[in-house]
Amino acid sequence: MISLKDPSLFTQQAYVGGEWVDAPDGKTEQVTNPATGEVLGTVPVLGREAVAHAVNVAEKAQKLWKKRTAKERSAILMKWYDLMMENQDDLGAIMTAEQGKPLPEAKGEIAYASSFLQWFAEEGKRVYGDVIPTFAEGRRVMVLKEPVGVCAAITPWNFPTAMITRKAGPALAVGCAMVVKPAMETPYSALAMAVLAERAGLPKGLLSIVTGEAVEIGAEMTENPKVRKLTFTGSTPVGRLLMRQCADTVKKISLELGGNAPFIVCEDADIDAAVEGALASKYRNAGQTCVCANRLFVHDAVYDEFAEKYAAKVSQMRVGDGFEEGVIIGPLINEKAVEKVEKQVADAVSKGGRILTGGKRHEKGATFFQPTVIADANRDMIVFREETFGPMAPLIRFHSDEEVLEMANDSEFGLASYFYSRDISRIWKLAEGLESGLVGVNVGVMATEVAPFGGFKQSGVGREGSKYGVEDYLEVKYVCIGGI
Ligand code: ADP
Repeated sequence: MISLKDPSLFTQQAYVGGEWVDAPDGKTEQVTNPATGEVLGTVPVLGREAVAHAVNVAEKAQKLWKKRTAKERSAILMKWYDLMMENQDDLGAIMTAEQGKPLPEAKGEIAYASSFLQWFAEEGKRVYGDVIPTFAEGRRVMVLKEPVGVCAAITPWNFPTAMITRKAGPALAVGCAMVVKPAMETPYSALAMAVLAERAGLPKGLLSIVTGEAVEIGAEMTENPKVRKLTFTGSTPVGRLLMRQCADTVKKISLELGGNAPFIVCEDADIDAAVEGALASKYRNAGQTCVCANRLFVHDAVYDEFAEKYAAKVSQMRVGDGFEEGVIIGPLINEKAVEKVEKQVADAVSKGGRILTGGKRHEKGATFFQPTVIADANRDMIVFREETFGPMAPLIRFHSDEEVLEMANDSEFGLASYFYSRDISRIWKLAEGLESGLVGVNVGVMATEVAPFGGFKQSGVGREGSKYGVEDYLEVKYVCIGGI
């Protein structure tokens, strides 16, 4: 049981077409706490019909919603934002219970997630069209921006709340409706948000949370012609599959997929700042974010100093249940995730990697892994190509800007990159040379609602957050008026 000030935020029913529902056949799936294995409850296992129903209701609701003024829509989103922040403690507790991240981090995610509702409530009022100087006498040229319509979202477990508001915020603000399939590991965070959306006065049907069977739900979301856009955050293989599935109905798509972020420490860097940045970038959410540093490149001249300071700090990180005071590293989402890290560590060691700290499963339990640093890493290791999604940092030595740029960009992914330097010309050279949608210079964490988030290469399509995130939910309509 999760102890909450407002127990009504914990609901075990799905929210479909404005109604709280069970599965027609009564089928449910258990949700467990990854730290303890405790069963938190169940959620309905819904299928295609539930999505089809949600889409039908959403279509009707959206026709009315888009006619409301942006200010009216904004007021509801603002109210939703206020309610999320008022219930930050409870929403954080639900998240820690089902996702595992330390409670302060979970509450931080609630603030981050809510900020998208606030930002887009404001930004939705500033969706401007254009009047373009005419190309012919007697004609006038205008551009209108219109909501794309009913959108579907498939979201992951690593940011159970923020990955929904980052999509639903802009969609609802500009007049779209949204049907969401949350990850089955973390449905309660999504359902709690829906409780608050309802309380904020969001008209029924505009937001549905459909729990259930991923493949079936995904099939309906991608094949239903009434769904005009699919937005997905998750792994690259599933993203590719969904992109293919969307082809037959030519849907608009936004994809936030995997990353393989380089984190570069140049010889002129402030080493202590770089150590702090690399700790935050690598070990946030126990390494389970798509923008986590995956490969740490350290210049030969500062390699030993960095490695020593970094490993010393990592070895002090407290591991445990996210509800325990002072815990920095929670459990991984499941044992499979632990096996993946274990495999990458074994591979690295077999290819010459030297463990500076950690390297093994943690005594806290089957879902815990020791925060790990591996020196003498190289590009033959699996970790050079594959996202770790766990608390393991490989240190790779480099000797020049050209060499490190080549290695950093040697990836099919291009989501985030980081580097530490105090040389202005190097800062420009690396910032321009790195092939990724986000570049952090002398910072290890940079996600914010005011800036665009999204990937180059196979890390995705589209942007979320900021004014660019609004565009992803708008159609551009050219209106030509003749006979003037
Ligand atoms: P992860 O490995 O991090 O769980 P996934 O890409 O598998 O990443 O999961 C992200 C989201 O995609 C989850 O909500 C999951 O249920 C969903 N998902 C996984 N496979 C499919 C699929 N074939 N069709 C639709 N959704 C899917």
